[in-house]
Amino acid sequence: MVWSTLLVFVAGACVGSFLNVVIFRTNEGGSVARGRSRCRACKGLIGVGDLVPVVSYLLLRGRCRSCKSVISWQYPAVEIATAVLFVVAYRLGGGELVVLRNWVFVSYLVLIFVYDLRYMLIIDQFTIPAMIFAIILNLWLGVMPAWSVLAGGAVLSGFFWIQFALSKGTWVGGGDIRMGALMGFMLGLQHGLVALFIAYVLGAVVGLAMMASGKATRKTAVPFGSFLAVGTVVVLFVGRPLIDWYLGLFL
Ligand SMILES: [Zn+2]
Repeated sequence: MVWSTLLVFVAGACVGSFLNVVIFRTNEGGSVARGRSRCRACKGLIGVGDLVPVVSYLLLRGRCRSCKSVISWQYPAVEIATAVLFVVAYRLGGGELVVLRNWVFVSYLVLIFVYDLRYMLIIDQFTIPAMIFAIILNLWLGVMPAWSVLAGGAVLSGFFWIQFALSKGTWVGGGDIRMGALMGFMLGLQHGLVALFIAYVLGAVVGLAMMASGKATRKTAVPFGSFLAVGTVVVLFVGRPLIDWYLGLFL
C-alpha cells in the first residue's frame, strides 16, 4: 500500500507537470503535443534531467539553468497539488474504474482552477472535453442514475444561464454556464448543487478575507471558476459524508 501510494504520487506529479504544459501552451496558442519544453524567459531548450517534477525545481532553486530567471512557482505547486489529489482519489478507492474516473475529473478541474486563477477565463477547450468524459464515464460506470447526470448538467447550467440572461452577460460569462453544466455532469444533480453552494461560501469567505486585508475591493474581479472547481473536487471526494454531516446538524 505504501509503495503503490508512492507510485500514484509520482504519477500524479508527472500528470501535474503535463497539466502545466497544457495551461501555458493553450494560453500561448502552441501545440500541446509537439515541441520540447523551453525556458519561458530565454527560450532555451530544457534538458531532460531538468524536467523531473518538483525535484528539478528544488535542485535548480527555482531558476533557469542557463539564464537564471525565476521559474514560476506554479510548476511545483500544480505538480504537488495534482499528486496529492491523485493519492486522495486512490486512497478513497471505490473500484479501479471509479479511481480512474476521479483522476480524469481531477486533472480537468486542476486545469480549470489554475487557468481561471491565472487568466480569469473558463475556457471551452477544457470544459467541453471534460463534459464529454463526465457524461460517458458516469453513464458507463453507473455510479449515479442517468437522470441525475443529465438533470445536474441542465439545472446547474440553467442556474448560470438565468444570471447571464438577466444581466446581459455582466454578472457571469458563457464560461460559467459551461462550468455549471460540467459540474452537474460530473457530480449529478444533488451533489452538483452542494458543490455550487460550497463554491459560493468559499468565494464569500475568501472575498471578505481579501477585502479585510485590503488586497481587494468590491470591484475586484473574482476567478469564480476556480472556486467552482474547488467545490467540485471537495464534493467528488467527500460529498456523501459531507451531506450526512450537514443534515445531522439539524436532525
Ligand atoms: Zn532561461
